[in-house]
Amino acid sequence: MIIMNVLFSLGSAVKLGLKRGVPLVDQRTCYLMIEGKCNAGCLFCIRSKDQSKLSRLPWYSFDLENSITQIEATFERVCIQSINYNKFIFDIKEIITKFSKKIPVSVSLSLKDYSEIESLHGDVDKVGIGLDCARKDIFKQMKPYYSWDKTWKGIESASEIFGKYNVICHLIAGLGETEKDMILTIQKLFDMGVYPSLFAFTPIKGTIYEKLSPPNISSYRKIQIAQYLITSNIKKAEEFHFEKGDIFFKGEDFNNLKSDVFVTRGCPSCDRPFYNESPKGNIYNFPDISLVPPDILKDIEP
Ligand code: SF4
Repeated sequence: MIIMNVLFSLGSAVKLGLKRGVPLVDQRTCYLMIEGKCNAGCLFCIRSKDQSKLSRLPWYSFDLENSITQIEATFERVCIQSINYNKFIFDIKEIITKFSKKIPVSVSLSLKDYSEIESLHGDVDKVGIGLDCARKDIFKQMKPYYSWDKTWKGIESASEIFGKYNVICHLIAGLGETEKDMILTIQKLFDMGVYPSLFAFTPIKGTIYEKLSPPNISSYRKIQIAQYLITSNIKKAEEFHFEKGDIFFKGEDFNNLKSDVFVTRGCPSCDRPFYNESPKGNIYNFPDISLVPPDILKDIEP
């Protein structure tokens, strides 16, 4: 298959001048997505029903080759979002080969069979894998197309192939897990040499979870702090205090926490502006440190 067109996220298209709009942040990563129908049908995701959307963002089809030079001159990184159809990995490879390696390329994917992932070795420096769910029962409900056990094995083998912390595992808070479930999963991944990247469940119109609420902001901030402490080797999940699945930070002073705790954390330069939230509401992951309000800790309920 010869791919000429790929989907550009709205922010990427605006920065490249392909769409009109006023950028709210100076986006560092260019987000691209392969076209076509996703067969996976993850229950929280709109992509299998609407090929022009992923999370709350609209995506637009443009000729990739016309934009390659400009993308490489404008952005710090390219992130290719995949969908799932038979042998889609070959189409991903074809997109990657159009770049001249002036800027690094990440691929973000979920696979039924992770043996295929090896074919990306040498082409990308970071691979994002969508585990998405912190618990097996939630995974089985939300991602029935995929296998929990095979995904964990895939994460492990991808980490061996791509190297320590070059595999980024996406997790979505707010799918029914407890804070403890999420924090233990973050620790497990980090111990495996995999970088855990946290996102907030986003109710999307047209999915069966369109009326489910996004996670409580206080709870999300606490998980962000735990993620930061774990991935900075400051504290381990076993040292946290949990009660009935909730985390309690007893007597800890967070006033010196760095603002980047609350910034989108994944690959270097990852920003994904407003994937999880409208700029007008609660911002779960800030795309840039300058946007983190100085009084952010007020989000945390006592
Ligand atoms: S594989 Fe990705 S794009 Fe496809 S339904 Fe699942 S989350 Fe959405």
